[in-house]
Amino acid sequence: MLLANQVIPQRQGPHCSLLNSSAIQPKRLDQLCGQLIKKGCANLFDWNNTIKAYTITHKPHEGLLVYTKHILSNGLTLRPNAFTFLFLLRGCNLDEVRAIHAHVFKFGLQGHQLLESSLINFYANAGLADDAWSVFDGVAEKDLVHFTSMLNGFARNGRLDESLVLFREMLSLDFCPDSVAIVALLRLVAQFGAHHLGRALHSWAIKAQMMENLFVTTSILDTYAKCGDLEDACQVFGEMRVKDLSAWNALIAALAVHGRGEEAIQLFQRMVKEGEKPDQATLVSLLSACSHGGIVQKGETYFRGLLKGDFGFMPNVKHYGCMIDLLGRAGRLEDACELVETMLVDADEIVYATLLSAACTHGNVHIAEFAASRLLKMGANNAAYQVSLSNMYAAKGRWEKVSEIRSRMRDGRLKKMVGWSSIRINHQVHKFAMGEGLHPRSKEIHAMVEEMMATLKMSGYVPNTSVVLLDLDDKGKEQDLSRHSEKIAVAFGLISTSKSHAIKIMKNLRICIDCHTAMKFISLVYGRRIVIRDNKRFHHFEEGRCSCKDYW
Ligand code: ZN
Ligand code: ZN
Repeated sequence: MLLANQVIPQRQGPHCSLLNSSAIQPKRLDQLCGQLIKKGCANLFDWNNTIKAYTITHKPHEGLLVYTKHILSNGLTLRPNAFTFLFLLRGCNLDEVRAIHAHVFKFGLQGHQLLESSLINFYANAGLADDAWSVFDGVAEKDLVHFTSMLNGFARNGRLDESLVLFREMLSLDFCPDSVAIVALLRLVAQFGAHHLGRALHSWAIKAQMMENLFVTTSILDTYAKCGDLEDACQVFGEMRVKDLSAWNALIAALAVHGRGEEAIQLFQRMVKEGEKPDQATLVSLLSACSHGGIVQKGETYFRGLLKGDFGFMPNVKHYGCMIDLLGRAGRLEDACELVETMLVDADEIVYATLLSAACTHGNVHIAEFAASRLLKMGANNAAYQVSLSNMYAAKGRWEKVSEIRSRMRDGRLKKMVGWSSIRINHQVHKFAMGEGLHPRSKEIHAMVEEMMATLKMSGYVPNTSVVLLDLDDKGKEQDLSRHSEKIAVAFGLISTSKSHAIKIMKNLRICIDCHTAMKFISLVYGRRIVIRDNKRFHHFEEGRCSCKDYW
């Protein structure tokens, strides 16, 4: 029903004004469309609105049917316009979008700015940065919207170099990227750990007067933290005149992942005191701060508060994951197991993987087997789980179990992720896989690895060969350990940087126990600060110690 005071634009029929409403019930929409179809829409405007109504009520295929049955079949008396395609593009799948794209050309609408940007956005979101680029490249007169869409597209698809080239081109054309594009770029910079680029974007944001934008500022803070520079992250936070929940959450999470648990707790307390209400993400960071910092009692208190509803919500699976990690770290495996069994939500892979890791670390075969069996039931066949199990069996002398796992691994039935480590020297990223021999300085690097391992051994380092699951003799196992990508990256860091520089490495998987020990020795023997970001947290190695206190 139309409201009495509702103004109806002249060219719009009553049906279409209702079709415009996103609140319309799907059943009512079908009825109205049925009536329109029965009497035949008077013009393209009405059909476009019909398509729009279908797409906003999540029935894009009905919209496509309207297009093919009522616009295309009308001969050329009704030529679709840019809006027809803009509405059709919403909610369609890749094949349909490709077909729509072809029709955009067929009807000579390829020069329409919004249509081109929508296509760029669609392809970029679908992970097809090259297709997005080919639309962008074909745009005759590129404007800010096109550039922003493309920049976003590259950034979201992990294409750092192309993003930067485009960003510079935008600046040279006096186009100012919007906050969404800048944040996408910052996220990419954080992902690559490219600290100097984070700095450059920060300086640019100051000049572009974007520092009042909390979305941008928080993202800069987060980028610094993820590039291993917690001090700069804290400074950005300190300089924020207004802080919203995301800003507080970002810094608490940063402190947590860098192992500065007590500071994270203090920040949380300050946040509550200043009247900010914590949300689920805050509690995840807080509990993980307690876990990474080994702060058991406070962690338990916060979790009990969560269970009592003190924060206005119940714990989710991530909160449970942190808590299981916390109890596992403290060696309270029975308690961790009990918590898993009494969870109020369904446990996920991370929960069991955390329990497995804790049980293996503490050599509790019973609980490790329980966690592994649950993981198997879930179809989580990650090789890392079997490696943990095998190491534990090896430590207990259960060789029959070790060989059982080895043969399973040899069969190749397990998913094994390829590990790599990267290091940035003079603004260039060097990425090393295991045993890397492709680097131009490969000979020098391998000579350094050899020298390094011999020096470490003389200082008391004992290779932990239980990590190696291959059938090799001890010498072979030691050699295999020296081929780990983080050792190659650190050797390259040692020959390429001066002593005053911290060696910063990023690793896509969890650092292994042997590399962790070796890094502690390297920091002591070579007097270097080493920062490694693995897939769990930051490890700051200095003078023979790690900030994770050997639990991660
Ligand atoms: Zn390793
Ligand atoms: Zn560590």
